[in-house]
Amino acid sequence: MRLVLLGPPASGKGTQGRFLAKELGLDYLSTGALLRESIENGTELGIAAKPILARGGYLPDELMQPLIVAWLEENNSSEGWILDGFPRSLAQAEFLEEWMASHNSALDAAISLEVPFEELLKRIVERVECPDCRWTGQERELSAQNRCPECGGMASSRADDDEANFRNRFAEFEQLTLPAIDYYSKRGKLIRVLSSAPKESVSRTLLNSVFRSTETA
Ligand SMILES: [Zn+2]
Repeated sequence: MRLVLLGPPASGKGTQGRFLAKELGLDYLSTGALLRESIENGTELGIAAKPILARGGYLPDELMQPLIVAWLEENNSSEGWILDGFPRSLAQAEFLEEWMASHNSALDAAISLEVPFEELLKRIVERVECPDCRWTGQERELSAQNRCPECGGMASSRADDDEANFRNRFAEFEQLTLPAIDYYSKRGKLIRVLSSAPKESVSRTLLNSVFRSTETA
């Protein structure tokens, strides 16, 4: 099964992507987590990406596509995968479609996580991430001394989470990603999931929707 996960910042892509990957036995790639890791490690990619991500921008295709292709080359023969953070534009959706067609595979579904703007803003302010295992969640989910509930790492706010940055990312989402969502909708591959309920309930809805759509496909 090959899936992509679309949605505005803080719509729960990381949480739900990891959940689905675990439930379905798929490989999972979060381009956002990969980029934040590259920045922390000071790699060439990280150095190029840092100023762009700091102002809430998207990475240009010439940096993003080689990264995705390298990952896909390595993982496309597996049971399947979930991409979180790619595609982020119509051009990237078309690029992925072509890449897959040339490798005799096709996407099963694109999942769009939908949350009202005001709620996203509230989530951003309270969001934390673990630098060790890349778990993300809300402050209130941390165990004592701000420890990650998954691995006990020292979780903290994400560097790219402030309101101005969020507003930029949301504007980019509307301008660039909505056309990609529309693209999947027209091809009958889109699964829309309202992602404002508690995350366990979103997870259940999501899993059922994926099963339903791939059964009838
Ligand atoms: Zn952790």
